[in-house]
Amino acid sequence: MKLHRIPVGPFATNCLLVGDEGGQGVVVDPGGDGEVIADRVAAFRLQPTLIVLTHGHLDHCLEASALASRYGVPVAIHPADLPLYRNLPRQIAALLGPAAAEAFRPDPLVEPGWLLNEGDRVPIGALEAEVLHLPGHTPGGIGLLIRTEPPTLICGDTIFRDGIGRTDLWGGDHETLIASIRNKVFTLPDDTRLVCGHGAETTVGREKAFFPY
Ligand SMILES: [Zn+2]
Ligand SMILES: [Zn+2]
Repeated sequence: MKLHRIPVGPFATNCLLVGDEGGQGVVVDPGGDGEVIADRVAAFRLQPTLIVLTHGHLDHCLEASALASRYGVPVAIHPADLPLYRNLPRQIAALLGPAAAEAFRPDPLVEPGWLLNEGDRVPIGALEAEVLHLPGHTPGGIGLLIRTEPPTLICGDTIFRDGIGRTDLWGGDHETLIASIRNKVFTLPDDTRLVCGHGAETTVGREKAFFPY
């Protein structure tokens, strides 16, 4: 597996290019800097087949439509985060101001072609990722579990190195988030790589050892 992390946008969101050895793969969370992402896709000779969103926050979705149109590939998201995705302009107005919302003209907003649910298998060229539903930060947060050795979990804003996702935004719920982490993330092997939505990566074992929640 090839995994390339690109911090994008004002919140330094980790956009990920994930591919097999042949270069087929997916773009995860293109939340800003679309031209930078496209340059890296070309530099790494990735042939995207899908845009996957770990959740519907604007800093993970902003360039999804533009890149989906550019590569002619579908967008995939959990159905419970469709309201967030479809209200992207409203999220922009709330977080970045009305001028930014006015300037945002996705051409057009691409309706997700694949609604991802728990247990779905997402092809990454010759590899595949299993979808884990990880609600709490948003209702439709997902993780992508790739059975590498050790395993890799792309976990969005569910858990970070030394922290967890905030739960004070629309649809967030602290108890639900902790349950997702304890029941679905911490039950993975300790050496599982956690590739987070922001900041450096970590492992299940490291976060489990110092989990104060
Ligand atoms: Zn988020
Ligand atoms: Zn985020």
